[in-house]
Amino acid sequence: MTDTAIRDATPDQLVEHFDVLIVGAGISGIGAAHHLLEQCPDKQFVILETHASFGGTWRTHRYPGARSDSDLYTYGYRFKPWTGAPIAVKDEIMTYLGEVIEDEDLDRYIRYQHTIVSASWSSRENRWTLLVTRVDNGEQLRFTANFLWMCQGYYRHSVGHTPKWKGMDKFAGRIVHPQTWPDDLDYVGKRVIVIGSGATAATLIPALAPDCAHITMLQRSPTFFIIGRNVNEVADMLRDLEIPEDWIHEIVRRKLISDLGLLNQVALDYPDLAREELLKPIREILGEDFDVDTHFNPRYRPWQQRIAFVPDGDLFHGIKSGKASVVTDEIDSFTETGILLKSGATLEADIIITATGFDMNVLGDIDFSVDGVPLDYAKTVTYRGLMFTGIPNLVEVFGYFRASWTLRVDLIGDFVCRLLRHMDELGVSVVTPTLRDEDVRMELHPWIDPEDFNPGYLQRSLALLPQQGDKDPWRHSPNYQLEKQALPAADLDDGTLRFS
Ligand SMILES: Cc1cc2nc3c(=O)[nH]c(=O)nc-3n(C[C@H](O)[C@H](O)[C@H](O)COP(=O)(O)OP(=O)(O)OC[C@H]3O[C@@H](n4cnc5c(N)ncnc54)[C@H](O)[C@@H]3O)c2cc1C
Repeated sequence: MTDTAIRDATPDQLVEHFDVLIVGAGISGIGAAHHLLEQCPDKQFVILETHASFGGTWRTHRYPGARSDSDLYTYGYRFKPWTGAPIAVKDEIMTYLGEVIEDEDLDRYIRYQHTIVSASWSSRENRWTLLVTRVDNGEQLRFTANFLWMCQGYYRHSVGHTPKWKGMDKFAGRIVHPQTWPDDLDYVGKRVIVIGSGATAATLIPALAPDCAHITMLQRSPTFFIIGRNVNEVADMLRDLEIPEDWIHEIVRRKLISDLGLLNQVALDYPDLAREELLKPIREILGEDFDVDTHFNPRYRPWQQRIAFVPDGDLFHGIKSGKASVVTDEIDSFTETGILLKSGATLEADIIITATGFDMNVLGDIDFSVDGVPLDYAKTVTYRGLMFTGIPNLVEVFGYFRASWTLRVDLIGDFVCRLLRHMDELGVSVVTPTLRDEDVRMELHPWIDPEDFNPGYLQRSLALLPQQGDKDPWRHSPNYQLEKQALPAADLDDGTLRFS
């Protein structure tokens, strides 16, 4: 959206102004609102959300069994104790988020069914202007804001990623993407193929297996999983001792974060040992005759992709029971009755579920411009993985992959509130990350090093994402252990944030 288009907008449109405008009412946006209320109570803010209700990811994903793949003690906010089993299903997470909204009366601040279409920064006015479409009646609205807090998540909600395979139109059954799960899908007694081997496939298969005739996980290559009981013994022990829930939450979080740090370190320093430790329980469930190396021993290093937690090994027990099976092969084409594989084998199916991931959304698919110039996001350099050179007054929340997303929501919440208070103290209204003379020649790298973390959706979109430098604060280090020290200690006056 350019300044010209804004000038052309209907003159009598009501323009509402806020100090801070939060994009999205998922777990990040709700967390951002909490931090603003707690740490910057004088700031006027609003949350704009496309959907008709809150939850983001947890509202969109309605397939049977949809659940977290990390524990809720760390996926929950630091300020709201989690009191259930560590791995939670979508409804439990929605209840938790609903309670946060109710506890803090956040509904007052959320405008649902508001899609932000464009955002343009004017250095003359020192503010963002947003054009917004109401989903329910098509009305066009304008908002202005001093500061944008982007909590739009990382993937497009409206449609999932489905590769195009030969002959898909010939298949006589239904093809379903888990992100747009149809309410009327009847899988009882049906032969089902799930394409994919990520957390979604690992969730769907045990959830559907009891009711369908047979379910096959068809994967091109294997994925790592962590198997464990869906209990937290420390939490249970502390509960038996009648310790208050907020203490339990804090203690269990610290323990889990420390365990995770250890696991990450072992995976990095001793990848072979980590690999064997991850495979051991799978071998134990599936038995000696099962070819674990073909189907569950990935080509990549542990933690180069997110590792999903499989509670009680349910996926593997399904395979052991014979209700589910796994095939590692490549798709040649779809046929009228199923899938022809490159090996020449065929799989028959009534329903094919494409658990093939996401398409990334870049800044909420919002048309951004700065002083009339369309934003080239990929040309920006990130400041600590949350702000970007040349983009004034904007912070984006991009959570962790190797730890719970929400740990970063809380850290960024503290950072933004500190930054806003600092700007008030300085009496300035604009902050723009800007490379200093000593930074302009630094080496630039992709947003995430593909050697370090390389899931398909990131690989597909890396060219659209900002770059990072080879030194702080221009690095994006998606590592909670480092950031929990670095972000609170970040010197806001080191010259990399230009205030005016
Ligand atoms: C099935 C599933 C399980 C997962 N489990 C875990 C887990 O256990 N642990 C973990 O750490 N991560 C997990 N993730 C990753 C998960 O996406 C993040 O943890 C987190 O939910 C992201 O929250 P968010 O609020 O940042 O984004 P989202 O949940 O994507 O919400 C963003 C919101 O912004 C809105 N929005 C976007 N663009 C616009 C716009 N232009 N105008 C208005 N509104 C807009 C969207 O409608 C949406 O409601 C999981 C993901 C999936 C799909």
